[in-house]
Amino acid sequence: MIYFSGTVITDDGAVEGYVSLEGGAVAEVSEGKCPVQPLATGIIVPPMVDGHTHCADSGLMAPKEISLCELVGPDGLKERYLKKSSPEKIACDMKYFSKLARMNGIGTFIDFREGGVEGSMLLREAVPEAFILGRPSSPEFDPNELDEILRYADGIQLSGINDVPASYSEAVADYTVRSGKMFAIHASEGSREDIDSILALSPSFVVHMASAERSDLIRCADEDVPIVSCPRSNRFFGLTPPLAMMKECNNTVVLGTDNAMLCAPDMREEAREYCSILGDLKVDQENLWGAMVSNGRKLLYDGKRIGLRPGMDADIAVLPSEDWTAAGMLRSSERILRYRQRKKG
Ligand SMILES: [Zn+2]
Repeated sequence: MIYFSGTVITDDGAVEGYVSLEGGAVAEVSEGKCPVQPLATGIIVPPMVDGHTHCADSGLMAPKEISLCELVGPDGLKERYLKKSSPEKIACDMKYFSKLARMNGIGTFIDFREGGVEGSMLLREAVPEAFILGRPSSPEFDPNELDEILRYADGIQLSGINDVPASYSEAVADYTVRSGKMFAIHASEGSREDIDSILALSPSFVVHMASAERSDLIRCADEDVPIVSCPRSNRFFGLTPPLAMMKECNNTVVLGTDNAMLCAPDMREEAREYCSILGDLKVDQENLWGAMVSNGRKLLYDGKRIGLRPGMDADIAVLPSEDWTAAGMLRSSERILRYRQRKKG
């Protein structure tokens, strides 16, 4: 039996206590003092879900002064880079990205994968554990292409409602949702977009809302549509996501690290930016654990697999903390420990 002690993120929130692992499973999650010397102490969490990535561009170094459109817009630097790079090079970059993510305590990442069928196939082969949302490349709605993408991807995404005709986004979203798959979309990143048109697509979540107004956030909360926020990426483009307003509106917020060319897959770094924008390192802890750990798992898993509990696979991350608090975790520069124990037999 191996023990870890500190603050444990459970299905019922954070508790001060310990976790034990045995035979490839979580054996015990208890409040109180650890009965033996623990292997490590800190904030003990299940593997995190990085709510939004574009892992294929991890081999590109983005210049410091570049606009959103010049970097990721049509025929922008990223699109030209992906076109000229070989599939072998992109696959290699994706594998490296996933290794970094693993080391940072991330169990899976929700990747907005460009490049149609080939793009999703490439990521599935390179990183089997990735949660892939593929993007169709056909300019016309093509259900056969969506079916092909869904052989490799877990769902479909679009870059934004203003990038394609409304009839196209409606047909793609409708087909995806009717197929029982996840649909998601970037929303109001650099400029405000019509929230009613976005929510009419029945997205499982929207990404960014950095330029949204209060009424848009209220609509998302009313419709129970989570917001994946990527504060470091937004800041790079001079945008500040309205995180305080999201908190006031009771939005479910999930952190994502966005373009790999801008930000490493590191949820602790993302959480630092999140807290710096909220302006108070004493952000209430439940809110921080929600955005960093629990809400991302809620997006992908059923309600019983959000926090640590007995019977789960022995796969945990320990976030070092100077004092076992969220603020102490954000101050710490020690490496995150990912600990996995394989099942016997
Ligand atoms: Zn994105």
